[in-house]
Amino acid sequence: MKSYEEVMESLSQPGQGCLFVFAGPSGAGKSTVCRALLESLSDVGFSVSHTTRRPRGGEAEGDHYFFVDDEEFDRMVREGEFAEYATVHGHRYGTSRSEIDKKLAQGDLLLDIDVQGAAQIRTLYPEATLVFILPPSLEELRARLEHRKENDPADIERRIEVAKVEISGAGYFDYFIINDRLNAAVETAKTVIRAERQRVSRRLRTP
Ligand code: ADP
Ligand code: 5GP
Repeated sequence: MKSYEEVMESLSQPGQGCLFVFAGPSGAGKSTVCRALLESLSDVGFSVSHTTRRPRGGEAEGDHYFFVDDEEFDRMVREGEFAEYATVHGHRYGTSRSEIDKKLAQGDLLLDIDVQGAAQIRTLYPEATLVFILPPSLEELRARLEHRKENDPADIERRIEVAKVEISGAGYFDYFIINDRLNAAVETAKTVIRAERQRVSRRLRTP
């Protein structure tokens, strides 16, 4: 039997950082929710992905993404450097194992990735917490994609079709958040993060 002191000692240790994966259809609001979370939770880190797409205005190398060409991306795939990677709406994206390991050693870590990537993380890091971000409706999803002004009408329709498939396969996620009112969605996300931090199994192992 563990003593009171031993249990309290284990529970009060910082423990290994928690890995949070936020995924969901394009336009559901993952980046918006993640940005708001990172602004208000200073003790959560963000995983910077590699991508073959070009930087958009205001995006800085190593801050938003590591921008690489196809050759470098292929090399990283070949050498097993990615924890997950996927082609998302025509561009390639991947999370490197070293990025996850380095930042998890410092504390909790947030990944904003697509649904295919989330499934791969589930396999490699079974203890990860997978959070599915949903739009309140497909009509609202379309309206958000139109409002964002990054995609032409045909591309928006393709994203809606992909969204239907992604939503139908969401059963392996741990939590869902319907991003209707942004503030409420961010509060729900914080609740998930706080609850996961309190999991006994993260600090105490049964003998
Ligand atoms: P994702 O990262 O999932 O592709 P974004 O975060 O880029 O989605 O959000 C898509 C668009 O919807 C953006 O223009 C964003 O400002 C807007 N948006 C995000 N969340 C909400 C919300 N709760 N209510 C209204 N608009 C939102
Ligand atoms: P954007 O190009 O707009 O920044 O991102 C496009 C999509 O790629 C988003 O759905 C985003 O979540 C996803 N994405 C970004 N980084 C990664 C990654 O490392 N892996 C995977 N699988 N998807 C990613």
